[in-house]
Amino acid sequence: MQQPAMRFCPECAGPLTVREVAGEKRNHWFCDRCGDLHYDSPKIVVKCFVFHGNRLLWAQRRIEPRAGFWAIPGGFLEGGESMAEGAAREVYEETGIRLAADQLEFYMTGTVTFINQVHIAFRATVESDFCLPGVESLDCRFFTRQECPWSAMAYPEIKSAMVQAYDDLDRGEFSLWQAELGALGYERRPIRDN
Ligand SMILES: [Zn+2]
Repeated sequence: MQQPAMRFCPECAGPLTVREVAGEKRNHWFCDRCGDLHYDSPKIVVKCFVFHGNRLLWAQRRIEPRAGFWAIPGGFLEGGESMAEGAAREVYEETGIRLAADQLEFYMTGTVTFINQVHIAFRATVESDFCLPGVESLDCRFFTRQECPWSAMAYPEIKSAMVQAYDDLDRGEFSLWQAELGALGYERRPIRDN
């Protein structure tokens, strides 16, 4: 059985305990003190592949986890934002590039079960290669496939998704992708549009 992601009740700080519901152990915890029920629902991560010519925008992380390593801009969706608004905000915060949410096109989605996250990735194309690292970034750059810091990727588990983005860029055709990253490894398949 999984440990609770939260050990104490966010309402009253009482200890959380797992109980069976209808004979089943589920991913939710009861507070013994106030009786509240808490769920460890997955967090939603939004990100954006930003292309300029044959280059893709990467940001070098300033903060843990994986400080000093490179990833495409992204982060947790915040309350009150649409997914595209959240992804556009992350691009701005990490690279100084302002994108309107409606410039972002849906590109990839997937679950990362071992860290309890759902990822939603968009893509956008920009006319200028201007970018400026924000407070969460050490650096940001547009890299061709050859220039890309493959050995300093923050999340090498999803390297094949980055390769896919460069492949789509080379083909000039972007499929929609669904990916699953769990105990059995990484698997990605195109989403059919019919
Ligand atoms: Zn409580």
